[in-house]
Amino acid sequence: MKYISLLGATGSIGQQTIDVVRNHPEQFSLVALSAGRNIDLVRTYINEFKPELVSVHTKEDCDTLKGEFGHEQMTFMYGEEGLVAVAIYEKASILVNAVIGSVGLGPTLQAIEAGKDIALANKETLVTAGHLVMNAVKQAGVQLLPVDSEHSAIFQALQGEQEKNIERLVITASGGSFRDRTREQLVGVTVEEALNHPNWSMGAKITIDSASMMNKGLEVIEAHWLFDLPYEQIDVLLHRESVIHSMVEFHDSSVMAQLGTPDMRVPIQYALTYPDRLPLVGRKRLNLADFSKLHFAEMDFDRYPCLRYAYDAGKMGGTMPTVLNAANEAAVAVFLAGQISFLDIEMLIEQAMNRHQVIAHPDLTTIREVDQETRQLIHTLLKKR
Ligand code: NDP
Ligand code: MG
Repeated sequence: MKYISLLGATGSIGQQTIDVVRNHPEQFSLVALSAGRNIDLVRTYINEFKPELVSVHTKEDCDTLKGEFGHEQMTFMYGEEGLVAVAIYEKASILVNAVIGSVGLGPTLQAIEAGKDIALANKETLVTAGHLVMNAVKQAGVQLLPVDSEHSAIFQALQGEQEKNIERLVITASGGSFRDRTREQLVGVTVEEALNHPNWSMGAKITIDSASMMNKGLEVIEAHWLFDLPYEQIDVLLHRESVIHSMVEFHDSSVMAQLGTPDMRVPIQYALTYPDRLPLVGRKRLNLADFSKLHFAEMDFDRYPCLRYAYDAGKMGGTMPTVLNAANEAAVAVFLAGQISFLDIEMLIEQAMNRHQVIAHPDLTTIREVDQETRQLIHTLLKKR
């Protein structure tokens, strides 16, 4: 039996993780979970899984749940303290981190220090502080297992291979909601249009990131840290069908790829069962004959400037990826709130990066400060308009 703690249980990845756990009760037990504000869903999880520890965002929701489930053998917490408590919950051997944004960084670092293996969906954590996370993983000797489908694909393609033989990684990109539009046609697009992803059903923030191609940028930085490769060896390829989830090319020109239907439960479950595999309940098999063709195209950095900003930030290193990530989180939040246009997102990120003086080898305090300052800057820039 594998005991699991789960951050972000009510989100898109969180719910699919729950589904994997539900489908394999003989393998997995959910002992601790966190959510944000969706306490209706938390109630159903409590009834179904009887977790020992539950954390929510606000004290008010925490008190409500305590009132309702106080008779059960359960602990209720809230806020940052609750997230950390779930992340380091003693009985769990693996933490699935499926929260959104750099709020996942502190809990992840603490879980690693507490000796937990990490199944990581929360890519912002690696983008904002990859060096701290990877150092902590090395020190603690724990496993960091990718949940992001591209990184799971690369991880799978690398099984039995040696990293010194890698020529390059090829991360595939579907192109997101606006892939068939020119830049001129992006003027005036609505939040609803941006949220309409052609291949994957995901949370709001990552769906916007996919439309701006920032998601691919974050994934390039994520791959840099996970697979310890320079940016020159990480490429992005447009592939609209999302059948090939990513590839590894070796020095002898051989290419290994992982293919499948777009179903996040596959990488989630693989991270939980690695190096083993389990049947995927309710799976839809990949039938290549359904696709008479697969399409591939070179990435156009002028069409998708956010991808260029991400490569730039990654290569500059230090605190620049923190700025990229925080500016993007803040800008996407105001876009989703209907306060700025879609193209403003990339403009704000560029402005934040231009104003930042890179600090090399930042510690956790510096990263948190830069993260906060950047969010503040975005709001100041908006007020000035
Ligand atoms: P969602 O927005 O669907 O879910 C986010 C989760 O985090 C929810 O449980 C939410 O709670 C919780 N949450 C949000 N803010 C806070 C906070 N301040 N404190 C505590 N909890 C909070 O996101 P996704 O599931 O789409 O994405 C999660 C992560 O996985 C992201 O990093 C994303 O980039 C990555 N990822 C997602 C993929 C996908 O298919 N969705 C694919 C690959 C990677 P509540 O809803 O209760 O308020
Ligand atoms: Mg991905």
